[in-house]
Amino acid sequence: MYMIPLISGSIEIRKNKDKLLFINSSTNKIHTFTTDEKVIRLINLIGGKKSNIDIFNNLVKFYEDISQTDVNNVLSTLVDISVIPQVNGRLLRQEEDKYQRQIDFFSSLSGNDRGLETHKKIENSHVVIIGVGGLGSWIVYYLAQLGVQELTIIDYDKVEISNLNRQILYSIEDVGQKKINVIEDKLKIINPKIKINKYELKFTNAADLEQIINTRVDFVVNCTDEPDVFTTGMLTAEYCMERSIPHIIGGGYNHHLGMIGPTIIPYETPCWGCYELQVKLPEWHEYELIKKRTQTAPSLNLLSSIVACIHSFEIIKVIGEINVPLLSGKKGELDFLDIAMEYDHFNRHPECKFCGKSKSSVENKSL
Ligand SMILES: [Zn+2]
Repeated sequence: MYMIPLISGSIEIRKNKDKLLFINSSTNKIHTFTTDEKVIRLINLIGGKKSNIDIFNNLVKFYEDISQTDVNNVLSTLVDISVIPQVNGRLLRQEEDKYQRQIDFFSSLSGNDRGLETHKKIENSHVVIIGVGGLGSWIVYYLAQLGVQELTIIDYDKVEISNLNRQILYSIEDVGQKKINVIEDKLKIINPKIKINKYELKFTNAADLEQIINTRVDFVVNCTDEPDVFTTGMLTAEYCMERSIPHIIGGGYNHHLGMIGPTIIPYETPCWGCYELQVKLPEWHEYELIKKRTQTAPSLNLLSSIVACIHSFEIIKVIGEINVPLLSGKKGELDFLDIAMEYDHFNRHPECKFCGKSKSSVENKSL
């Protein structure tokens, strides 16, 4: 074994005579060991760039009877109790510092020491965002800051001055620039390691996604509502249901109400096809669009950001395998006036064109 051990930042070590305590401030767990002078010296050598071999070479100068195996056994014990975090090798020290507080957050949330593992799952995810306007610009910002390493961004718009009141990452000097280019530049400042796949595309066909995405996708977020969220939601569902990709149908505002969810885990939760069968769509939905409205819809940055934040919670719960999503089988409306959330509940529907009983791919799955 070769390692460059570091003590987790959430660990406090205390000594009383021959007793050694490792206190984890994230999980409130305490491990107690009987110790001696050699172990104390070994612990003091952990940190910086010293490997387990360097530590042994240092200790053997003082204690002739110590072996490399003794050192490795102590280090392995410290790994086992998460005093030394280890998941798929070590994070670089700088990265550990950058993400330590959220790693601790995930550890404390789950009540175990697997915060780093959760962080790595989030980091190694590929999320597709369709539309980077009032909702999508905030979501890509949150995901990049959380450390997600690959985003595919689809948008055909240029930055307009009317976007600047609520869409984060765009500034006055960006007006007239393609949103996908501005987003790429800004996200690389936040997270230099991020890979951005960008496509200037108006989302009108599920096959568009098929053509441009040829790698594994962990999550898709629909953040566009042109011509309306029912239509873009159905296109997103067509792509995702066939490939069993978790997705959120976001997008849409109704004056002081922000639309939230649903989050869909294909063949486990109710899907967008189920939703459409159970809600009363507006009468105009079946009518052909002759002329688009020219006035932009009322909206506020506070509503955009909180709706995006809740959606981002849902995304990391799924890609980080933290918990089941809250917005399964329900679509919420967040009321700006009283900060109340009202939900439209819906169930899996046997006639659903995606996950209904007639779909052979789900015959063995229960409704
Ligand atoms: Zn369905």
